Amino acid sequence: MASAGLENGPGPSHSRRGNATGMKCTRCRLPAEVQLRQHNAAFCRECFILHFRRQVERAIRKQRMFAADEEVLVAVSGGKDSLGLWDVLHELGYRTTGLHLSLGIGEYSEHSARKTAEFAEKQGLPLITLDLSRQETDVSVPRVVAFTRRPPCSACGILKRHYFDQVAVERGFSVLATGHNLDDEAARLLGNVLHWRADYLARQRPVLESTHEKFVRKVKPLFRCSEYESAVYAFFRGFDYVVEECPNSTGATQLLYKDLLNRLEVVSPGSKLAFVREFLHHGHAGFITAPVPPPTACESCGMPAYGELCSFCRLIREVETRRKRRNQAGS
Ligand code: SF4
Ligand SMILES: [Zn+2]
Ligand SMILES: [Zn+2]
Repeated sequence: MASAGLENGPGPSHSRRGNATGMKCTRCRLPAEVQLRQHNAAFCRECFILHFRRQVERAIRKQRMFAADEEVLVAVSGGKDSLGLWDVLHELGYRTTGLHLSLGIGEYSEHSARKTAEFAEKQGLPLITLDLSRQETDVSVPRVVAFTRRPPCSACGILKRHYFDQVAVERGFSVLATGHNLDDEAARLLGNVLHWRADYLARQRPVLESTHEKFVRKVKPLFRCSEYESAVYAFFRGFDYVVEECPNSTGATQLLYKDLLNRLEVVSPGSKLAFVREFLHHGHAGFITAPVPPPTACESCGMPAYGELCSFCRLIREVETRRKRRNQAGS
């Protein structure tokens, strides 16, 4: 986690007490504690918090993510991004409820659930927690992976998408916000561009509108905020969040792309923001071709599907089939 006296990118280092180089806050001229080279600005603690919240506010307004009176379901993992997002939305006056999925990934999941619950209690915010190992079929990530041999993140993605929609629909929410930040979006964009995945590029937006009654609008209010800014916000606000990464994330291609983009950012500050912003302004429209047919209803669970069964029910079927086969072989 970054310390105070914060600077992203190269240049003179700053002491923990900040302002070792006499930098002034761009906004109020008091001693600055953090320098944001991509914005060509430096901020004191108070002005940074304001800057961060304004970035989020601007993203919500410009991208028409949700209305002021709409209640937002916030997907919270216990990490700095999702807890920061929840905090900002609450501070901006939105009505919010957190949704935490307990994925069953050992200590990582236990810490995540604990930090999320502590945060919710401290802020007095409502939280829904869903333990995947306690569903009709135990669908904790390690168990699904053990039965299906799918890559963990692929199985986890299917489970998250399903339960996010299911909980939102059951509880009457029309919008779900996730804590994806600028670094996540830039890395995803780079991956999609490197492989020219035209259909993925067509869907890479900070707002994904609902195309089915059981498919809620998905929004990413932090898409303009870098991971660094998100870490600084959490630090300045004094959050206690899960610092360790999910053990399944090591070696993910996404991390390689993030590293490449960070190296680019060092020599050319603002590259990440420009890459994502200009794609949305000028590139994205070029990838929208014929309208994608809306999903139908899954024959088993009624959730959106592009075939007889949704990807979640196909996954469950796979788990159940292999479990039965193993049991038969063992008996
Ligand atoms: S790294 Fe993969 S398995 Fe871990 S939480 Fe993220 S998507 Fe799920
Ligand atoms: Zn200031
Ligand atoms: Zn289904």
